Amino acid sequence: MGRGRRGLGRIGSTGFPGLSRLQTMQLTSIKANQEMHEHFTRLTTIGNTPAAEAIRLTIALKAKGEETVQNHYEIIIIGAGPGGLFAGQKAASLGLKVLVLDRKQEIGPPKRCAEGLGLGWFKRLKLKPEKEWAVQAIYGATLWAPNGKSITLKSKKIAGYVLERKVFEKKLALEAARKGAKILVKANVEKCERKNGTVEVTVNEYNEYKTYSAPLIIAADGVDSRVARMLGVNTANKLPDMDSGFQYEMTNLKNYDEKTLHMFFGTKIASRGYCWIFPKRKNTANVGIGIGASEQKSAKEYLDAFISSKPEIFKDASIIEVNAGAIPVGGFLEDMTADNLLIVGDAAHMTDPIHGGGIGIAMEGGEMAAGIAAKACKAKNYTHEFLKQFNNEWYAKRGNQLKKRLKARLFLEKLTDDDFNYLAESITVEEALKITGGELDAKSKFFFLGKKLIQRPGLAKIMKKYFES
Ligand SMILES: Cc1cc2nc3c(=O)[nH]c(=O)nc-3n(C[C@H](O)[C@H](O)[C@H](O)COP(=O)(O)OP(=O)(O)OC[C@H]3O[C@@H](n4cnc5c(N)ncnc54)[C@H](O)[C@@H]3O)c2cc1C
Repeated sequence: MGRGRRGLGRIGSTGFPGLSRLQTMQLTSIKANQEMHEHFTRLTTIGNTPAAEAIRLTIALKAKGEETVQNHYEIIIIGAGPGGLFAGQKAASLGLKVLVLDRKQEIGPPKRCAEGLGLGWFKRLKLKPEKEWAVQAIYGATLWAPNGKSITLKSKKIAGYVLERKVFEKKLALEAARKGAKILVKANVEKCERKNGTVEVTVNEYNEYKTYSAPLIIAADGVDSRVARMLGVNTANKLPDMDSGFQYEMTNLKNYDEKTLHMFFGTKIASRGYCWIFPKRKNTANVGIGIGASEQKSAKEYLDAFISSKPEIFKDASIIEVNAGAIPVGGFLEDMTADNLLIVGDAAHMTDPIHGGGIGIAMEGGEMAAGIAAKACKAKNYTHEFLKQFNNEWYAKRGNQLKKRLKARLFLEKLTDDDFNYLAESITVEEALKITGGELDAKSKFFFLGKKLIQRPGLAKIMKKYFES
């Protein structure tokens, strides 16, 4: 049952004469206390206008530190990115009374993202691509070695989409609101404090402080997460576990395949990372870079040098947007729970350690957290002990697989430019087609590439180190 229906059902039965249902809701305190009923009865009998008194009474109750029913929720989700919005949508669908808060003034921008989302995520999350936000169908990837040679892994079937993420997130917000979640923007959470079994959330809205409460918080506040820390969980990323991302959305590009994602490797191009061109509508693309956060040279310097080195693509291009952000690529939180708290998405470092993608993983994490939240609300149990089941579920479904990918990333970091050149030269067109044509599953693809690499002097030893256990 949705939030609104459940609330109205309960309050409507109290039947305050002369007040609309909304005013009645405003008047009903969390305790539904006797004192207010008496106060209200006194007011109506002495002939004051009910509406005016309703407002005065609400203000008086707030001044006394009492909350109105509108400020109390079953869960409060902090952060309206893909993780928080999907959690909100799913939790509201499960009948929970949900509040979603975001400090931004608009859902969506700034995007801080290359906007690629693989088809697997559409299937897993039951998303139907719509042309308003799934703006560019992608059929594969072209991997560029430092020497300029490339391997194209392309299939006839759509392999994913580049999104217009601002529109996608708005769509997620509309869905969440339709299911009954309450969303507030320009609501910066400044404090979270446990009080008598619930969490009091202090929010700066238009420079005015407001308080909301719920027994359960979902921290979906992204890589810079402070919410979990406010509730005692250290989510700080170590520098080696972070990538630094920088990107331009550019238009009027030329001479590149608009049907594949392009990734450019090489220590001079992007140390511990890669540059990318993710096509997005005609002649327009996200052109960016992700490198280790402890690199001396900035991500922008690397990217500008990359763009200058490719006049055939960028000579006449214009920049229409700049995006920057950090990407957590390897320090998954072992425990993403505490009393009254679940942590999802980038806040829990849930991104893929190899390519840094995190939209789908954050949404999946949000959906799983909504399921656990519903169980907790039903059992009225918000303890760390109870909520810990979220860790088990997440690691079984996604986390353990990502840990393996972390090992693979650590191995890839050891590859030299010569190794990349060797790969690009030694994989034939037939072999590339075999990789993308559905003949090989993920494991076999990995073994195939491993077999190629093991022929390189020195690499067998490194592979043994990373993949033995
Ligand atoms: C340059 C770059 C390129 C990327 N490219 C891709 C890609 O192509 N594909 C992909 O899948 N992933 C990509 N990612 C990663 C992806 O953007 C993230 O993994 C994803 O956004 C995580 O979603 P989230 O909901 O966890 O957090 P976010 O999207 O970061 O959302 C967090 C929200 O919390 C809000 N918030 C924070 N603090 C507070 C507060 N105190 N009070 C209220 N609100 C608060 C923020 O305003 C924000 O809206 C990229 C990242 C970067 C930096």
